[in-house]
Amino acid sequence: MIIGIECTAHTFGVGIVHKGKILANIRDMFMTESGGIVPIKAAEHHKLAAESVWNKALEQAGIEERDIEYIALANAPGLAPCLLAGLHFAREKAVKLGVKIVLVNHCIAHLEIGQSLGAKDPVLLYASGANTQILAYESGKYRVFGETLDIGIGNLLDKVARYAGLGFPGGPKLEKEAVRGRYIELPYSIKGMDAAFSGLATKAQQLLDAGKTLKDVAFSIQETAFAMLVEASERALAHTGKKELVLGGGVACNARLQEMCKIMCKERKARFYCPEKPLLVDNGAMIAYTGEVILRGAGKEILLNPENIDIKPRERTDEVDVSWR
Ligand code: AMP
Ligand code: MG
Repeated sequence: MIIGIECTAHTFGVGIVHKGKILANIRDMFMTESGGIVPIKAAEHHKLAAESVWNKALEQAGIEERDIEYIALANAPGLAPCLLAGLHFAREKAVKLGVKIVLVNHCIAHLEIGQSLGAKDPVLLYASGANTQILAYESGKYRVFGETLDIGIGNLLDKVARYAGLGFPGGPKLEKEAVRGRYIELPYSIKGMDAAFSGLATKAQQLLDAGKTLKDVAFSIQETAFAMLVEASERALAHTGKKELVLGGGVACNARLQEMCKIMCKERKARFYCPEKPLLVDNGAMIAYTGEVILRGAGKEILLNPENIDIKPRERTDEVDVSWR
């Protein structure tokens, strides 16, 4: 029985997994009416939410605290104050329960959870707030085949939404606006499998200043930015010869992005996997699931005592030694 804690950014989540089966997945997200995420405030939110999210997860799984055998903690990458809030909570619980901890890289968890749907050796398009990467396994590591050269795709959407007076998260609000929008040409910036989004953000803000409607701007951002990601993902599929694409991260909730991926995969006869929304956004179940995968593959030597864990706010996906595979 493994319990996973997610706390890398805006969400505090707890999930419980047993032999690959998800028994619970509870989350509480830090949101704002206007303005973005202030790391310290998000961390305060996590500290306040932690105990209740933990208890709700135990209740949903129908287990007692003493049934827990291991704790999986997302210790990287993310906002340092948020990661620390999670670390302190995990440490306190581990000491209390007398259990050890397995550390999980958050980006890798988004990839591994795709394997719960049946993907064996996929390319992952990880489209999230701060992270935007195209990942796949190759020679002992999850390699970064392509990534944003500046801001994450979700940050782009949130930034433009914030400029238009909408709160966080902005992506879902822009998606609603985009439904009735028309296309305006925007900068399309892709270099190999890397993409850049900040020029797009500036241009979108200029268009709003010039009186273009939010719905047209929202539609055009989605069409342009998502096309860039799908183009890079297709290139990664072609380059690696892999036949599966997994979508992950909060922006993957977007129906238009899902549709574009689906079309591209169909055209090149690749299989497309998109987890259900509770497993797509930041969540504790994917951390517990990945913790179990790591333990199964790497053995118990990978476990750490609570006093020996630390956060790694800037750990890159390709720094992690994938010893469990
Ligand atoms: P994550 O960082 O993976 O938790 O994802 C959070 C990001 O996902 C934020 O930038 C949100 O604005 C974005 N997001 C959530 N839902 C949607 C959606 N339906 N369309 C576009 N972006 C979304
Ligand atoms: Mg994420």
